[in-house]
Amino acid sequence: MSKSCELNLINSEYKDGEKISYYEDEIIVKEPINLKIIPVCCDVCEFAISNIIDIQRYHEYQCCSECLTLWAEPDRERWKKGWRPTERQIIKERKRRNSFPLFLDLK
Ligand SMILES: [Zn+2]
Repeated sequence: MSKSCELNLINSEYKDGEKISYYEDEIIVKEPINLKIIPVCCDVCEFAISNIIDIQRYHEYQCCSECLTLWAEPDRERWKKGWRPTERQIIKERKRRNSFPLFLDLK
C-alpha cells in the first residue's frame, strides 16, 4: 500500500528527448532527459541565481555571473582547478552587494 501523497506509476517511456511517466488518475509527467538541475543560490556567494545569464554561467563555472566577473574570470585556470575565495572575501563581497540600493518600478 502506498502513502496517500505518492503517485502510482503505471508506465514510462522515452520519446523526443523526454522521459514520460504515466501515473494513475491520468497524471503524466514529462522530464527532459538531459535536465541539468542548478541550485537556487550561487555555491560561492549564496546570492540567488536570478536570471538566464546566471544559469548559463553556473553550468560552466558553478557560480553566478557576479562571482564569475569578480573571481573566476581574472584567472579561469585557477578557478577550473578548484580555487575559491576565502570566507573573509566572500563576507566582504556580500556586504558590498547588500549595500546596493534597491529600486522598484511600480508603474
Ligand atoms: Zn555568486
